[in-house]
Amino acid sequence: MSEKNNNGKNKILVLGGGVAGSSAAHFLSKKGYDVTVIEKLGKCGGLSRTYRYAGHPYEFGPHVWFWPDDEINNVIRELSDDELYYIDRKLFTFVEQDNKKYRYPIHFSDIKDMPDKEEVMKQLQKHRDPDMKLKPEELPTIGDCFFGEYFKAAIGDGLYNKFMRNYTWKMWNIDGDKLKTSMVWADRFKHHYEKLKGYDPLKFEDHTLGKGIKFQVYPKRGWDHIWDRMVENSNVIHDEVDRIIDEKRPYLLTKKGDKYYFDEYHTVINTLHVDLIWGEDVLPATGRMMIPLLIPGCKKAFPEDAESLHYSSCEFQTRVTEMKVITRHESPDTLILIEVPITNDMKESCFPENAMNYALDNNLFCRRTYCQQSEEALALHKKFVDKGSHIKNLVHCGRYAEFKYWGMPETVNSAYQLSKKFEEVK
Ligand SMILES: Cc1cc2nc3c(=O)[nH]c(=O)nc-3n(C[C@H](O)[C@H](O)[C@H](O)COP(=O)(O)OP(=O)(O)OC[C@H]3O[C@@H](n4cnc5c(N)ncnc54)[C@H](O)[C@@H]3O)c2cc1C
Repeated sequence: MSEKNNNGKNKILVLGGGVAGSSAAHFLSKKGYDVTVIEKLGKCGGLSRTYRYAGHPYEFGPHVWFWPDDEINNVIRELSDDELYYIDRKLFTFVEQDNKKYRYPIHFSDIKDMPDKEEVMKQLQKHRDPDMKLKPEELPTIGDCFFGEYFKAAIGDGLYNKFMRNYTWKMWNIDGDKLKTSMVWADRFKHHYEKLKGYDPLKFEDHTLGKGIKFQVYPKRGWDHIWDRMVENSNVIHDEVDRIIDEKRPYLLTKKGDKYYFDEYHTVINTLHVDLIWGEDVLPATGRMMIPLLIPGCKKAFPEDAESLHYSSCEFQTRVTEMKVITRHESPDTLILIEVPITNDMKESCFPENAMNYALDNNLFCRRTYCQQSEEALALHKKFVDKGSHIKNLVHCGRYAEFKYWGMPETVNSAYQLSKKFEEVK
C-alpha cells in the first residue's frame, strides 16, 4: 500500500462503520489519512455497539474482549482510559435430555454426574490411552476433516450428541459433518493449538473460554465509547452502501444516490459482506434475533454467577446471557439476552412492523452474523472477492468481508495489520 493512487490523494473510504470500519478509521486517521466512513445506522460499532433496554446496557450478545497480544490490547487500554472491568467467565451448557447443566467447555469431571456415564466413558476411551490422553495418530487431521468427524473421534458420539450435534445445526444452520474444522479455532486460540494435531475439546482441569488469557475485559463506559473514539477524527456519513457500478470508471452507489469514484481514493476498505457490495444477497450465513428479557424485581437470575448458558438441544435459543454479569450495571432488575438463530432468507416482514422497527433501531435483528464455514460458501466468497480484484484499490477487512468466525480482537487486529501496510502521510 505504499503507492499513492494516480491522483496522489490521501483519502480513504471505509464501507461500514462496525468494529472493522471504526478500527480502520482509527489506525489510518492516526497515520494522517483523510478517512470517510459510510455507515447505515445512526452510530458506529455494529454488532459490538452498546445499546440500552430499560436503562440496562447490552451489546448484540455477550461482548467480552480476550486476546493474548498486548499490541492490540493496548489500543483498548488507551481508548478506554484503562477503565475496564476484568471478567472471570463462567459458562454452562444446559442439556435437556439429562435435565442438567454442565460446565462449558465440556469437563471430564462432569461426566460422573451424567445419567449415561458408563456408556459415555466407554466411547470416550476409544481413542485415548489409559491416562485419557488422546492418541493424535488415530484422529482425523484438523483442517482436512469436518467438525463432526473430529469431535466424534475425540469425545465420542455420546458427548457429541449431548453438547454439539444440535448446537452446531442451530449455530451454523449446517450439519457438523459438513462444517469445516478451520472455523473451530478462532485466531485468538491459534497459539494454543499450534500443532493442531491432538487438540482435546475435553477439559481435565478448571477451564473457561479463553483460559490463560489475562486480558478479558469489558469497558466500564460500554463498547460504544470505544467505537466513538475510534471514529472521532473521521468523517462519518450515515448512508447505506447499495452496490458497485463496475463501469470504465467504477464507483460505489449509495441508497441516497451518492456516487463515490474509486479513483478518487487512495484505498477503499470494504468491511461488508462481499456479495452485498455487488448488490447481491447469496452468501450463506446464520443470523440472530436478540430478545431482551427484563425480569423486574429479580436482581440476579443465573446460578453460580454464570455469564451465559448455552442450550445444546433443539430449543429455539442458542445462548442466553445475563448482561449485568458483564456490564456490572446496578439495578433491582436484571436483563437477559436470548439469542435466537435466524436464517438467510428470513424476512423482516415476518414480524410485526412496530416490533421490527424497534429491533432494527436497536440492532436486535441481524440476518447474517455467522458466515457459514462450508466449502461451498467459502468458494462463493472467493468468487465475489475475485470479481472485484481488478479494482486495485479495493481491499476487504473484518468478520464479514473476510468471511471469518472472528471476535472483536481478531477484527481489530485485521484492521491493524492492514494499516501497517500504509505509509504515514507527512
Ligand atoms: C451473538 C454474538 C456474540 C458475540 N460476542 C462476542 C464476544 O463476546 N467477544 C468478541 O470479541 N466478539 C464477539 N462477537 C463478534 C463481534 O461482534 C464481531 O467480531 C464484530 O462485530 C465484527 O466486526 P465487523 O466490523 O466485521 O462487523 P459489524 O460489527 O457487524 O459491522 C458492520 C457494520 O456495517 C454496517 N452496514 C451493514 N450494511 C451496510 C450498508 N449496506 N451500508 C453501510 N453500512 C452497512 C452495519 O450497520 C455495521 O455497523 C459476537 C458476535 C455475535 C453475533
